[in-house]
This record gives sequence, structure tokens and C-alpha cells, in this order.
Amino acid sequence: MNVLIVEDHSDDRKLLHYTLEHNGCTVIEAQDGQQGLELATRLKPDIIISDALMPRMDGFQFLRALKADPELSSIPFIFYSAVYTGESEENLAISLGAAAFVIKPMEPEELWARISMIMESLHARTSAAMHASMDEREEHFLREYGRIVATKLEEKVLELEQSLALRKQAEDELRRLNAELHGEIAERKRAEISLREHEQELAIIFENAPFMMMLLDSERRVHRVNYLTCSLTGTSSNNMIDRRVGEALRCAHAVNSDEGCGFSPYCEECVVRRTVMDTSDTGRSNHQVEARLPITRDGKEQSVVLLLSTTKVVVANQDMVLLSLQDISEYKKLEAQLHHAQKMESIGTLAGGIAHDFNNILTVIIGYGDIALMGVGDDDPMRQHIGHIMGAARRAACLAQDLLLFSRKQLSDKRKTDLNEILGSVDKFLRRVIGEDITCTITPADGKIPVFADTHQIEQVLMNLAINARDALPKGGLLSIATERIRLDEEFITTHGGSGGSGMYALLTVTDTGTGMDMETCRKIFDPFFTTKEIGKGTGLGLAVVYGIVKQHDGYITVYSEPGLGTTFRVYLPLCKSAGNSIETEPRNLMPARGTETVLLAEDDESVRNMVLALLQNFGYKVIVAVDGEDAVQKYRESSEPVQLLLFDVIMPKKSGKEAYDEISKIEPGIKVIFASGYASDTIRQKARVSDNVMLISKPYIPIELLGMVRKVLD
Ligand code: ADP
Ligand code: MG
Repeated sequence: MNVLIVEDHSDDRKLLHYTLEHNGCTVIEAQDGQQGLELATRLKPDIIISDALMPRMDGFQFLRALKADPELSSIPFIFYSAVYTGESEENLAISLGAAAFVIKPMEPEELWARISMIMESLHARTSAAMHASMDEREEHFLREYGRIVATKLEEKVLELEQSLALRKQAEDELRRLNAELHGEIAERKRAEISLREHEQELAIIFENAPFMMMLLDSERRVHRVNYLTCSLTGTSSNNMIDRRVGEALRCAHAVNSDEGCGFSPYCEECVVRRTVMDTSDTGRSNHQVEARLPITRDGKEQSVVLLLSTTKVVVANQDMVLLSLQDISEYKKLEAQLHHAQKMESIGTLAGGIAHDFNNILTVIIGYGDIALMGVGDDDPMRQHIGHIMGAARRAACLAQDLLLFSRKQLSDKRKTDLNEILGSVDKFLRRVIGEDITCTITPADGKIPVFADTHQIEQVLMNLAINARDALPKGGLLSIATERIRLDEEFITTHGGSGGSGMYALLTVTDTGTGMDMETCRKIFDPFFTTKEIGKGTGLGLAVVYGIVKQHDGYITVYSEPGLGTTFRVYLPLCKSAGNSIETEPRNLMPARGTETVLLAEDDESVRNMVLALLQNFGYKVIVAVDGEDAVQKYRESSEPVQLLLFDVIMPKKSGKEAYDEISKIEPGIKVIFASGYASDTIRQKARVSDNVMLISKPYIPIELLGMVRKVLD
């Protein structure tokens, strides 16, 4: 049996095709009424099974076309379709001459059973006569067909409206979600930008921080460093990344050890390593820890002092230690210099104070000694004993003198003088002192080296330095002394601390090839009484005196020494514009003349006062005694005799010697005076305003010297 299937839905068509073929039919397929009509005309199938609603030509029109064609009108026609309007479709179909209207969907077997049944009944039935007229049938068809199509359209419109509404709703939802998504994207972008900006800000802060910063991982390996850290080591950050902290900082120990930082025995003691490990292990922060590190910079090993802080931080989900460092080496150096200067200042004050009291005592010993000597005959055995006492007292006086020189409380007689000339004048003497085993070369700079200096004190500087060199050259060697002119800049002045400003200086260099000193010794050599020599050999005052003299001249002294290699001392003295004439010292008159004049003596120290009183009286003078400045003025006023000379101590209670002198000068202008002091400094000298009729004598005075000066002033 040939069956023509007319169906627009391909799935339905295939299913139907399969069912029919399965039951032994030959199947022809058409997709709509039009194609169905063509195939039916051409192939004349035994039966047609058609859908009702299809595009181009629907089932009803297809059926009408068949019935209108006499050649095709006898082919049985079965509708297989879903119902839309109830029974009207079925009724219309039957009225148009359809054999049956089977309602979709139906199980294949049931469908086949229906089709077989319809076919059998068709054979039995004689084709019913069309009792209605053609016009009536046409009218009926149009009415029914219009109604079905209208209902169908309404339904479709309703369906369409519903689907449109749904679609609109979905579109709205989509638009809303889209807007939401856009918002989220914008928000994300903003967050990303702000994060990037934040990161950039942090990077800038990290890079430009005024101290060194390093991020270290749990193995103390460098994760990141800032610019300043590179400047400490003189390497690039690439050179530090992934290295252990000590190695990255170019610690000499770490670099020297093959295994790197953390393995050399020094590393176990390394404060940097310990501090970082502490923070890494315990999470504890450390602040301002001081660490000294020997680092290699520009190929040289240097000791730097670092101030370090550590904090635990989390970077990229990893525990790290943020290490910040400050190089305080320069600060430490300045601090040490300041400490040294302060120490020297306070020791100076102490030494000056002791020397002052000492001098008063020695003045008494020497004075009475002299008086005693005057009273004993030349062959008296006592003469020798007293001579020993005097010798010892003079040696003690020399010590006190040195202490005063160190403390800068000693009077100095500074004039314009030529440093080369001083050097020339001590040349012979120096060579004699150092002996023949030592080769001495003296190289003065060309021309004059004018300095404002006390010649005797500079000679003493030279002597003390030369004697030390000699002691450092027990097996002989080389001693060279040279002078030159040099400019000192601000940096030198600030790092060496002192009263002299920058500018031109005379440089005196004393170098020996002797035993040299280690750093520890170098730091102490200027301290009074510091000596490495055996008892009786060294006093420890030589360099203290040199230091005091140089300071009193607004100069500087530096030492450079290495054990076994020798020592160089450099003395810098401010240079004058031109050299003045050095003044010849007058030869001393050995035996002072006696006198009969009246002397007003003012001295607060009782034993000194009594000694001077005895001395002057011994030499024929009349003496009026005062215990302080005020007493002196009063005694002057009360005196019935004219006073020819005032002999005043400078520092006294109530009124100073100078104040007393000023008052008396008002009463008697031009009165002669001698000031004495064991404690006179430059300031006192300035205060006393040295003029022709004002003489200064320092304690302890040698009686002969005092008597000589008294005579000189009176005459
Ligand atoms: P003294 O010579 O009495 O010991 P100084 O103040 O002159 O005292 O010197 C102090 C110390 O400085 C010396 O004991 C010595 O250790 C050291 N010193 C000074 N000059 C030199 C030098 N040229 N070479 C080596 N050591 C020196
Ligand atoms: Mg010495």
C-alpha cells in the first residue's frame, strides 16, 4: 500500500513514516498541502494521511483541491492532527470528504490500528452521495473554515502576546543583569586602579625612604631592597636579590666564607642576623638595635655602625621580615670625638686645679729652701741636703708645669715667628737627644712658615715628639721631620672639632719607623699619665703637653700609626700673613740686687704669703701684707709710708688682684705692679691688660727670678 504523508513537522513526519513502513506500507513524504497535491497528482497514492494546519496550503484546502480533482477525489484522506477548536475541525474535515479525523498524538501501534480499521470500513462503505448542493457545501466550508482560522489566529495572537510579554520580561531582566554587570566591572576597574595607585605610592615611599629597607624571606634571603641600601654597598639591587642578608650587605665575614652568611663562625655572633632571626621566629619587632659590621665597599673593608629595626610583615601570602637600617658610623665618630674633647677638657680642668695647688706648695718649699741656703755656709753639710730638697722640688715643679701646659692654664708668650726657624734652632739639640742609631732627616718647606706661637712651647712639642720616636726606635731607624703649608677645609675642622677655622695652616709632620701602636693605644696617648713605658721611664705627660700646647695655639694634632710599621704625628698651626722678628731673650742676672723700697704684698695662700714676706725682708725690702684684694686696698689707704710696688696674686677672694690694682691706680696713677699666678690663663692675661708697667710672673716662682723682676720693675 502506497501512503502519502503530508506533515510540516519533520519529527512527526519521521515517526509516522517509520510506523507505516514498519507495517509494510510504501511511504511518500510531503511537507505541506501544495507539495502533497503535486505528489498525489503524479503518484496516485492508495491513501493520504495529512496534518491539518501547515504553511502554504493547509490540510483543509489540500483536501478540497483533491475532492475537486475527479482523478484524485477517490483517494481516502485521513487527518492526523491536534485539535484546536474542539469538534469543529473534525466536523469540517468530514464534511469536506475526509475519511477520518485522528487526534494527535497517538501511540504508533494504536495509530496503525486506527488506520487499518478506517481502511477496512472504507472498502465496505459505498461512497455516500453528496446530498447537499455544491453551493450549500461551499458556504458551509467557508463559514467553518473562517471560524477555525479566526479561532486559530486569536489563539496564536494570544500565544504571541504572551510570548512577547515573556520575551520583554526576559529582556528587561537581561538589561538589568547587564547593567549590574557593567556596574560590577566598573567597580572592579576602579578598585584595580586604586590598588595600582596604592601600590605605586607604597613603592615610591619604599624607594625614597630616608633609611635603608630590605624585605627578607624566612631564610633571610633578600626579596626586595630600596635605593639607599644600594648606596651603602655600592652594588645594584639585582646583586642583592636572593642573597642572604649579610652577603647582600657585603659583610666581610659572609663574603669571605664559601658558604655565605650564616655559616662562618662570625655569623653566629652577627647582631644583624640574630635580630632578623628573632623577628622571623617569634614575630617580635625589634627597634634601634646597634650593630657593627665589617663591610666591603669600593674594594676596601670598612667598619660601619648600623642602627636596625625589624618587623614581621606578610607579602604575597608569605611571612617576611622588614629590616630597616641607618648608617650611623659618621655620627658615632663625631660622638667619640666629642667624648674625647669633653674628657680632655675635664681632665684639663682637674690637672690645672691640682697643678695650681701644687705650685703654691712648691713655691713655699723652694722659697724657704733658698732662704735656708742663703743662711748656711758653703762648706756646711746641710747645704747638700737642702740642695737635694731643692732639686726634687724643681723636678716636681716641672711636672706641675707640664700639667699646666696640658690644661692650657700655663701662660704662653705668643708672637709672630717662623716655624722653620724654630725647627732650625732645635736641630742640633734634637740630633743629640735621639742618638746616633737613628737617622734624622729634617725637611723644612721653602721660605718662612709664619705662625703666631710661643717659641719655647713649640720647641717643647718638637722635643716631646722626638723623644717618643726615639723610645719607639730601640734598634735604630728613621725619624723625619718636615714642615709645609696646607689648606684645611670645613670638613676637617668639623670632624676634628676645635677653635681654629678653615684656611691656611702650617703643617709639622713627625714620622718614625718605630714600633707603632694599635688603635686602642692611639685612642689614649693624649691622656695625661697614659704610658706604656716601664716605671721611671715614662711619665705619660709628653703627649698630653703636646696636645695642650697645640690646642692653646688653636691648632690640631692627629696621629696615624700601625703596629710594627711606625707612627706619624701631624701638627697643624694657623698660618700668619708674614713672620715677625723673633725677640732675643735677655741673659739672666744671676745675683739680684737688694732693695729698701716698700712693697704691698697681697696673697691669699698663707704659706706662700709668709714665704714671699721672708724672702723680700731678707733682701732688705719693707713689706706690707694683705690677705686678699679688699684687704690690699684698705692696707694701701692706711699705710703711712708711700708704697713703691704692688705684688699681687691674680686670683684672690673678695677682690681679684686686678680689681685691687685698678682701685689703687685711681688713687695713684702709674703705680708699679707685678701680678703672680699659678693659675693664669690667656684670659687672665687679657683681663690684666699687659702694659709696660704690668709684669706677670708664674708660680712657683724661683726666688731669684722674683727678686730679679722686683728689682727690674722698681728700677
Ligand atoms: P710617655 O712617653 O712618658 O710614655 P707620652 O705621652 O709621651 O708619655 O706617650 C704616651 C704613650 O704613647 C707612650 O707610652 C707610647 O706608648 C705611645 N707613643 C707615643 N709616641 C709614640 C711613637 N712615636 N711610637 C710608638 N708609640 C708612641
Ligand atoms: Mg713621651
